[in-house]
Amino acid sequence: MLIDSHCHLDRLKAAPDHQSLKQIISDAKARDVDYFLCVNVRQQGFISMRDKMAEFDQVFLSAGVHPLDVQEGLDTTELNVFVKEPKVVAIGETGLDYFYANETKALQQQCFEQQIELAVQVNKPLIIHTRDAREDTLNFLRNGHADKVGGVLHCFTENWEMAKAAIDLGFYISVSGIATFKNAGDLRTVMRKVPKDRLLVETDSPYLAPVPHRGKENQPAFVRDVAEFIAELRGESYEELAQYTTDNFFNLFTDAAKLAGR
Ligand SMILES: [Zn+2]
Repeated sequence: MLIDSHCHLDRLKAAPDHQSLKQIISDAKARDVDYFLCVNVRQQGFISMRDKMAEFDQVFLSAGVHPLDVQEGLDTTELNVFVKEPKVVAIGETGLDYFYANETKALQQQCFEQQIELAVQVNKPLIIHTRDAREDTLNFLRNGHADKVGGVLHCFTENWEMAKAAIDLGFYISVSGIATFKNAGDLRTVMRKVPKDRLLVETDSPYLAPVPHRGKENQPAFVRDVAEFIAELRGESYEELAQYTTDNFFNLFTDAAKLAGR
């Protein structure tokens, strides 16, 4: 069994309605993908995401505000209500992105700090997006005592020092299809080193389709391609990687484990 630890099922062009979403989920199932974490990026989009996913017990949710969506604002009172919804197993995605939006730095930092505080308060792990902001991301996590709840650096593209620092803080490293790209040699070196008990796999669909699906819209079924690629890279079998990344997912997202009856 595989779990797509980070996808945006509510944003797939291939799944505009209920029937097509059902198909996407069964296509994934046909490739051994049994569970999904559907990640919220805009607070204003949470309710419609939740409603779309309501009937799918295999889809867990997060609630939060992405660093590139902070201009839409973060309402902590409302977010506090969202994160207590039964299927919400994590806070995020939150974090810092100085690459695409250096001009909103101060607002990103404020929203990041508030979401770390909320995560600690409600005892749920954090889903972190970080780009060109290594030091600040780690400092906010440390200062906010994020080690109490842990979390994941999703779609990891940073260096080994950053991975190591995050792992030392109790965080997991999630690998996406980016690792399959031709020019991702440095990232592959990092992915060989991540300890088995800290690795997760994801698609980040609809974005970043892995090889051999480049140019298509990404979907959770393709996490199988990421998993097979990474297993080979690490000299492991697919079955072994599938087993330990699944265990890792449920060890991190303990509310998901309860919902799945594990
Ligand atoms: Zn994402």
